[in-house]
Amino acid sequence: MSFESLNLHEALSAALKDAGYTEATEVQQRAIPPALEGRDLMVSSSTGSGKTASFVLPALTRILAARNDPERRREKGQTAGPRVLVLAPTRELAMQVAKAASNYGRHVRGLRVATVVGGVPYGAQLKALRGPLDVLIATPGRLMDHMQSGQAVLSNVEMLVLDEADRMLDMGFIDDIQFIAQATPAQRQTVMYSATFAGHVGGLARSLLRDPLRVEISSHTDIHFDIEQRLHWADDLQHKNALLDHILTERAVDQALVFTSTQRDADWLADRLADMGHAVASLHGGMPQGRRNRVLQGLRTRELRVLVATDVAARGIDVPTISHVINYGLPMKAEDYVHRIGRTGRAGRSGLAITLAERRDAQMVQRIQRFTTQRIPPAVIQGLEPKRAEPAAAPRPTGPKPFGRRPDAGRPFRPGGHGNAPFGADRKPGGRPAGGPGRPAFGDRDRAAGPKAFGSRPPRG
Ligand code: ADP
Ligand code: MG
Repeated sequence: MSFESLNLHEALSAALKDAGYTEATEVQQRAIPPALEGRDLMVSSSTGSGKTASFVLPALTRILAARNDPERRREKGQTAGPRVLVLAPTRELAMQVAKAASNYGRHVRGLRVATVVGGVPYGAQLKALRGPLDVLIATPGRLMDHMQSGQAVLSNVEMLVLDEADRMLDMGFIDDIQFIAQATPAQRQTVMYSATFAGHVGGLARSLLRDPLRVEISSHTDIHFDIEQRLHWADDLQHKNALLDHILTERAVDQALVFTSTQRDADWLADRLADMGHAVASLHGGMPQGRRNRVLQGLRTRELRVLVATDVAARGIDVPTISHVINYGLPMKAEDYVHRIGRTGRAGRSGLAITLAERRDAQMVQRIQRFTTQRIPPAVIQGLEPKRAEPAAAPRPTGPKPFGRRPDAGRPFRPGGHGNAPFGADRKPGGRPAGGPGRPAFGDRDRAAGPKAFGSRPPRG
């Protein structure tokens, strides 16, 4: 289905043409028409399926309509606050949405888009909040700060968008979201995006949405068909490092996103890879925002080939040239695996998602496989085969597909691979490197934010 049948404003069609989009994605086809009618929506659709445009285009349509409506038009210099408010879990994601709004709105004359996120100075945000705004994209914590100091005007919000609502709840933002929504007019339109509407997310949806239309494209466990998954079993950390080193020297790696479980591991691994001569940086929630922005910029300009990141920091990274996602440390939650590997295979390209697992990760691997209802095909690199057999899968009473157990069931990663790759200088023979993975991760906020942080507030972001 082309965008034409959606009858979008010509300013928006022109921007889509600039972007080179020919067809609307499925979530766009199904969510845009009811959103244009003003309906409340509950939307689930997999990562990378084009959800941003599915709410940004209706939002911009509203703004264009308001410009031609004498009752909604604004006087110059009036402090009116935004017409559209988007809440997103992380700074990166908020910046991504802002970029999309500016991009799809590039032909909308005088469009004013602002972001209010943690980790950046208040001054510019205050100025933006006071001016006449069209679209405000915010992380809940920082917006709450501005509301409590009386600086945010939300009384003219016509449309409220909750992007990645499940994630915001995981981060402990439920009270903030309720408070923010209450400050907006009750007759607003509300659209909510979430991988799941079970549990607390469902409760939030019931309290915020009116007669919502459910748009469910595919189960949240769906993995993009053009992402190939592989699982390498490692005997120990040393073996795991050798596997990573081998993979990163492959020429097929355009850009790689390597995930660690903790901030400490991210810094440690980035240092190690830098010592080996890789163009690499780490990205995690413990870094100041300016540095995080520079790192992401470096990834986009291809100055960096490898990014070592934690789950929270990697949300919202949208760099189509990421060819490989490598799970060096496994995620804490099975659904994070899906989010991680969704960072590759973007915008119609194919991607490879490689998981490096030690035996102690076997349970998590199983949980991931159960969650996605897919087996991650095991693979080996010649010369770097694991010495120990693949851990046996525990009996699984329910579920559609049994998972195989044969370690040799997957294709070899690449025939003719070489032997042990060089190690970083900080490796102790036979032992774990000082400060390496496995140590207690003191002060690791990404991890501390954890799966269920109700009540306990993560750092404002
Ligand atoms: P999601 O929020 O569902 O994870 P995004 O909205 O970030 O996905 O979109 C993923 C990628 O797809 C982005 O790079 C975006 O520019 C691109 N994209 C979105 N809509 C289309 C479309 N209709 N045609 C081609 N590419 C698209
Ligand atoms: Mg998104």
